[in-house]
Amino acid sequence: MMNDRPADRRKPLKHRVKIALRGTVANVSYYSGFSRMLARRSRQPRLTILAMHNVESPPSTDFLPPDMKTPAALFDRLVAILTKTFPTFTVDGGVRALRDGKLAGAAVAISLDDGYKDNLKAGLPILQKHGAKGTVYVEAGAVGERKLSWTHCYFWVLHHKGFEFFIEHYKTLSKDAAAIAQLEAEACAGGDLRYHLKRILKYKADINDRDATCEAVMRQAGGDPPAVAAQIYLSPDEVRELDRAGIEIGGHTISHPILARCADSDVEREIGDGRRRLESWLGHPITTFAYPWGRKWDYDDRAVGALAREGFVAGCSMDPGTNHPKSDTLQLRRYAVDSGVSIPDLVAEASGTFDFVRKYLKLPV
Ligand SMILES: [Zn+2]
Repeated sequence: MMNDRPADRRKPLKHRVKIALRGTVANVSYYSGFSRMLARRSRQPRLTILAMHNVESPPSTDFLPPDMKTPAALFDRLVAILTKTFPTFTVDGGVRALRDGKLAGAAVAISLDDGYKDNLKAGLPILQKHGAKGTVYVEAGAVGERKLSWTHCYFWVLHHKGFEFFIEHYKTLSKDAAAIAQLEAEACAGGDLRYHLKRILKYKADINDRDATCEAVMRQAGGDPPAVAAQIYLSPDEVRELDRAGIEIGGHTISHPILARCADSDVEREIGDGRRRLESWLGHPITTFAYPWGRKWDYDDRAVGALAREGFVAGCSMDPGTNHPKSDTLQLRRYAVDSGVSIPDLVAEASGTFDFVRKYLKLPV
């Protein structure tokens, strides 16, 4: 599931200038051929891990927000360009190569989070067509028990019934008075309501009350959470099919919680039992993991420690950027990709062009 952006509603001027400069550098370096030349010639080891969710837009995922979707045609173009420009790895293979000094330059790993059915139906044929490697991070409860997370219930209700329906029914069904008051205040404040209400539910609401209430509101709206989960998530058989096709399957917990808000025992259970459930389906070890939501404030040292105790080779965050030989392999950075991705920006990041420009041209990109 996609990370959230900070709560500020307007980005400061300095930040907007940096984004504009970065875009210009990305485009000039891409269309002049510089970033692709640098990718081929640089001997600085670096691993850029892409993070995506849905790979096409079947009607069953209409209710999910655009920042979770990379249309199949765009994914095809992206993978074609990446495989022509960089060696591709699974996260496990890329991290081992980076850690063991076996990367001779810039490399890319493609990861897909949560375990959506379209990863198999649309994503796998595209990866195979271009000879690309890939990793799918699987939410074990959604796949194994058809348990739909509160976020998906929330998105489903917004899509089918709108904000007013959601807030009215949430008020009736929830016992969390503080969260209700904040939701109502946000609804009056305007802006991107889908994002602002989700932020309250994610970081402020009581976890158990929120989970039960979102599911109940979806049922009141005529939705069937297990049926929707079965429509959009892989089945264990389909996870096996991806595994047999050479796609790495990685851990992504059981219920996709914000690990920083979980009790100690739940952090261990979500990470360890989630892993063992995948291993029971596949019959071999799971070696890499992606933190749900993934920003620095969404997981903490307890989660990183649990990964270390479990013996994971790698843990992926959603902090943007590229990984180097000295990067913390249990808190790797990733580059988020959705339908609005700029391929020149991605190639500039993965090739080291932005680092080059910062170092030699002293520009703040
Ligand atoms: Zn996720």
